[in-house]
Amino acid sequence: MTEAERPPSRPGPSLQYLSGYPAELLARVDTLLAQGSLLDTLTRRHGPPHSMRTDGALYGYVSDIKGRFMRSAVPLSRIAYDNKLHVVRNALGMHSVVSRVQGGRIKAKREIRIAGLFREVPEPLLRMIVVHELAHLKERMHDRAFYALCRHMEPAYDQLEFDARLWLTAVEAQAARPAGGPAAGSG
Ligand SMILES: [Zn+2]
Repeated sequence: MTEAERPPSRPGPSLQYLSGYPAELLARVDTLLAQGSLLDTLTRRHGPPHSMRTDGALYGYVSDIKGRFMRSAVPLSRIAYDNKLHVVRNALGMHSVVSRVQGGRIKAKREIRIAGLFREVPEPLLRMIVVHELAHLKERMHDRAFYALCRHMEPAYDQLEFDARLWLTAVEAQAARPAGGPAAGSG
């Protein structure tokens, strides 16, 4: 099975967040997407949207997790939701070092920005993205050490990252669908 043998229309842009996951898993996702029931399935699994909807609430939430697991990591100058973060390019948030000249010295300031879309997800999915961004304070690359740190902070990290990718997939599919949802939607 080479890349070239795959029909060009599959897996399609709707599964762009899920490349690399097993085909049989993606087939199930496709079915749920076609039924328009992926978001409901995830909501049943993870619960209603969390309540950390403001930057202030997010700051407290992130600080709490950082205090428990990453006490020695560099302080964060800013923690905020960012509605301008492009979900496609920055599906898993954005971590940045902002360099500023201060008194002749360049001072690196750490910021955590979370895509605005995570304002409306169940709490476990917010936790996943926060853990992901916190881990980047110590590990820059998405390597073995990085994921080990993520799992240290959240043992179910891998499942939650997959489910967050499903969530993004479902939200985009819903936005792309004509108003009224799937034509055959009943029950
Ligand atoms: Zn990352």
